[in-house]
Amino acid sequence: MTALTNLLDFDPEQLVAYCGELGEKPFRAKQLQRWIHVFGVNDFDAMTDLAKSLREKLKGRAMIAEPTVISDKTSEDGTRKWLLDVGQGNAIETVFIPEDDRGTLCVSTQAGCAVNCRFCSTGKQGFSRNLTTGEIISQLRMAEFALRKTKGIEAGPKGERQISNVVLMGMGEPLLNYDATVRALKLMLDDNAYGLSRRRVTVSTSGVVPMIDRLAQDCPVALAVSLHAPNDSLRNELVPLNRKHGLDDLMAACKRYLEYAPREAIMFEYCMLDGVNDTDKHARELITLVTARGRSVSSKFNLIPFNPYPESGLKRSSDARVRAFGKILLDAGFITTVRKTRGDDIDAACGQLAGEVQDRTRVQERTIRMAVNQQRSGHSVCSVEEELA
Ligand code: SAH
Ligand code: SF4
Repeated sequence: MTALTNLLDFDPEQLVAYCGELGEKPFRAKQLQRWIHVFGVNDFDAMTDLAKSLREKLKGRAMIAEPTVISDKTSEDGTRKWLLDVGQGNAIETVFIPEDDRGTLCVSTQAGCAVNCRFCSTGKQGFSRNLTTGEIISQLRMAEFALRKTKGIEAGPKGERQISNVVLMGMGEPLLNYDATVRALKLMLDDNAYGLSRRRVTVSTSGVVPMIDRLAQDCPVALAVSLHAPNDSLRNELVPLNRKHGLDDLMAACKRYLEYAPREAIMFEYCMLDGVNDTDKHARELITLVTARGRSVSSKFNLIPFNPYPESGLKRSSDARVRAFGKILLDAGFITTVRKTRGDDIDAACGQLAGEVQDRTRVQERTIRMAVNQQRSGHSVCSVEEELA
């Protein structure tokens, strides 16, 4: 027996091609996609406007398979966090952050991460594997329909959408899982799926230069770049990928990206580490970096208070230091925000998730090593920015 094809792995174009192979016209793919992504239906028999013969065909070869939810917790501040089992002892985290004017979902793209940034516990725990398109888009699908269900809002286009923004700031480096990430992005933007605005979908990268250029062509969405240092020698230490793609190349790529981006500026993320990258001198150097003649990049800054984890050997900058650093950027005319911590009580804030989670399936008495620590967390908070006054 051949394995069933998971329809969640297809972007809109691929679903049309797949239906074509079954002898079906493109509008059938559109109907099928709406059942899957607009109505959240998993059962082919419930897809009532598809011909019975097509439903039978699909039942024999395809499936709609999502990762299992290991846990689902809601914080007092409304932040909701799901832990999902993606098999072989790997778990990933997805975090929803509600605000007055938007609902942001922080999505993971890899189990673990190979970039190994000095301050990131996901990096410390190594790379396990790329997530599939289905595993990436399932995070949005699962969260959107779960949130609606909790509020008694119907699935489908008439129900009020709960998630207005997506940030790929969970676990993993999205641009090192390029193909699956772009396919999932296409579904996020498609009107017959989630219909999100390009401006409200953000890819966060540690700086995979060639892939920034490809993203500009394939699917330009908002771009956040995790900078963390204003010069190559410090960035080489904090973000090892910098040894391959240095700051000159990265800044040039950001400038090129802005020609295609749906937003006017690149959001630079900067994790504030006490005594490492947080002095006034670093702030001034940062301004020079983004304003250098010939390659100046329209920039915004998001300062992230570091969330310590036991073996990091690093400390969070004081609030006063973060403010002083931010003021230098503000005074130079840059929009600067400081990331607020949300969901502390459910360990959804940066760097908080417990190190280990028991495998609930108990097929093997194995411990799921949560590579997810700050990832999820760091990221979980990304939409929640306080403007510095
Ligand atoms: N790999 C991508 C996206 C995931 S990381 C990237 O690096 O951009 C998302 C953000 O979380 C990054 O800006 C990262 O710097 C931040 N982060 C990682 N570990 C953190 C920690 N311990 N405290 C605060 N932020 C952290
Ligand atoms: Fe990977 Fe991002 Fe963590 Fe760096 S900060 S190790 S790129 S997930």
